[in-house]
Formats: sequence, C-alpha cells, structure tokens
Amino acid sequence: MVISIDSNSGFCFGVTRAIQAAEGELANGPLYCLGDIVHNGQEVARLEEKGLQTIDYDDLRTLPAHSRVLLRAHGEPPSTYWIARQRGCEIIDATCPVVKKLQDRIRACYEAHKHDENRPPQIVIYGKAGHAEVIGLQGQTNNTAIVIESTDQLDKIDFTRPIYLFSQTTKEVEGFNALVEAIRARSQESGVRTTVEVHDTICRNVANRVAELQAFAKANDTVLFVGGTKSSNAKVLFRHCAEANPKTFFVSSPDEIEQLITDGHIDTTNPDLKIGICGATSTPLWLMEKISERLSAS
Ligand code: SF4
Repeated sequence: MVISIDSNSGFCFGVTRAIQAAEGELANGPLYCLGDIVHNGQEVARLEEKGLQTIDYDDLRTLPAHSRVLLRAHGEPPSTYWIARQRGCEIIDATCPVVKKLQDRIRACYEAHKHDENRPPQIVIYGKAGHAEVIGLQGQTNNTAIVIESTDQLDKIDFTRPIYLFSQTTKEVEGFNALVEAIRARSQESGVRTTVEVHDTICRNVANRVAELQAFAKANDTVLFVGGTKSSNAKVLFRHCAEANPKTFFVSSPDEIEQLITDGHIDTTNPDLKIGICGATSTPLWLMEKISERLSAS
C-alpha cells in the first residue's frame, strides 16, 4: 500500500491557537476548559491527561474563586464572561480572532438598530441552532437573533422588517448563497420595500479546504477521513470527500482500521493500493499519523 496524509488537513489556525494556549497555561497549574476544547474526543483525552479539566456551565457556576477558565475557539456569549467574573475566575480567552471579529460585527449591528421601533430589525444567523459558536453569536444580540439552518426555515423571518444576515463561520458557501437568494426572492414577493443586508462571514480557512480535499480524495483509491463524531465540520468535509471518491470511510480512531480490512474495504495485500488519510479542522495531525502507522502494521 502507498499511504499518504493530506498536508492541508488538520487543525485550522483558530483551533491550533486555542490548543497552544491550553498547553501553555497547563504549565502554570490547574486549568478548566468550558466545553470540549475541540470536537475531537482523542485530542480532548490527550489534553485531559495533561491536566485539562473539561467543565460545563453548571460547573462554571460553582468554581472556586481564582480558578482559571479557558474559553475555546468557538467563542462565548457575554453571559459566560459575566458568570466567570462573578465567580472571581481568571478568563483565558482563546476565542478565534475570526469569531471574535464576527461577534463584534453582530453586536455593532444590533446596537445600531435595536432602537428602530417602527420596524424593529432582525438579525438572522445562518447556522446550526445550539452550536457553541452560534450561542456565542446570539448572545451579542441579547438572544434576539433568528437562527436559520436552511431555506426551509424562512417562515421564521418577518419579511416586512429589515433583515441583517450573517453566517456561522463554518457553514458552507453554497448553502449561504442559496439562502441569500431565497431571502431576496421572498422579500420581493412580500411587496414591502425593506433592507436586506448580507454579510458573508464564512471562514475561508474551512471553505477553501473543500477543493483541496476533493483533489486529494480523487488522487487516492481509498480515503480514510479522520474526524470526531461530534464535529459538524468533519461531517461536512467527509461528505465532500465522499462525493469526490465514493471509497471514502469515516474513521475516528486507529481501532477502527481492522474492521475496515475485515470487511474488505482495504486490501492490504495490494502493493499498488493508494490510501489517502485526511481530516477536518478539528482533527489532530498526530491522530492521522497513528492511523497511518496502524495501516502500515496491518
Ligand atoms: S474555522 Fe475559521 S473561524 Fe473557526 S476556529 Fe478555525 S480559523 Fe477560526
């Protein structure tokens, strides 16, 4: 077998930065992280072995004063900062600068328009309801923003009122463009002339990966896409990979390799078989390397 790892896969800039912050801060004593630092169980386990303690919002409310709390790349709503300060915690803010800028833009838009009483504006976020980043974005609008996951949910919007559209950073450009088109069409149909302001805030660190990933998938006979089952970015990129090469398999751990071989998906006796290993923005390079090692040893 010829095994190669996609050089464009692995942590994006924001996740790398958050993990480096965690590793650096762990040297100074106990450190809590609010939520999984990255949507990859193996990387979370690696950092927890080094002493990182993953907590939830209920835990945050009961932390002793002076505890150090790391906020991950996804960002947090203002209420989280407030609670942490109330507890006397030290905040280590590893919010990705791209997400931070988006939060600032949404907050500025909300502040600029919240007093328009005649036709109160609507801030619409194209994103996944309940996703950590989206919760952080909604928080910038005092939780008044409307979250839309697809064009099927347009009824959530009042087309007689101004619309300010933003996107979760990890959504797909095609879906966003389709939503923009549908909103504009529905707005025209309503017969009420109103503002439809569009802010394409999709992170190109993710969006630009699709073409590279598909080229990599096509260049290999079989592809192992490595990702965490909780990662929405992994699900999306896996789908693109599988479109380019139907012999793409989703793998979360090296322990899954044997089953793929037993099921006949990987012919380890074929010396010419090209196997490509790639992953999401939340997939650590070391995990892809471990999968490569396990394959080589099979
Ligand atoms: S995908 Fe983009 S916005 Fe999200 S953490 Fe990575 S670099 Fe930041």
